Parts: sequence; C-alpha cells; structure tokens
Amino acid sequence: MAAKKSPPRPAPVAPKCGPCGGTGEVPIVVRVGRKRRTVGQQAGICLACFGTGEAID
Ligand SMILES: [Zn+2]
Repeated sequence: MAAKKSPPRPAPVAPKCGPCGGTGEVPIVVRVGRKRRTVGQQAGICLACFGTGEAID
C-alpha cells in the first residue's frame, strides 16, 4: 500500500526577488574606518523586497 502524500499546498508561483535570490536577506560587508578594512559580513534585510523574498512589481 503506497500512501501518497499530497503536497502541503500548491505553492503559488511567486517571482523571486533578484538582489536576494528569494531569501529576503542580502549580505552586507562591514568595513571599518579609513583603511576600509573589511571586518565581516552581516545579513541585512533586502531593500528590494523588504525581506519577503518576492519580487515586487
Ligand atoms: Zn529581495
């Protein structure tokens, strides 16, 4: 008996946001001072989709 599980829900085809690739977050390089030394990266909210990951028309 093969129990087929139906998918939770048919996901609507939402256009992915370009800059963040649909994640809603974009890496932000953190630089310090005059030497422009890169000290790391932070995850920042994507301003193109406001964190939703979906492209806004
Ligand atoms: Zn985005």
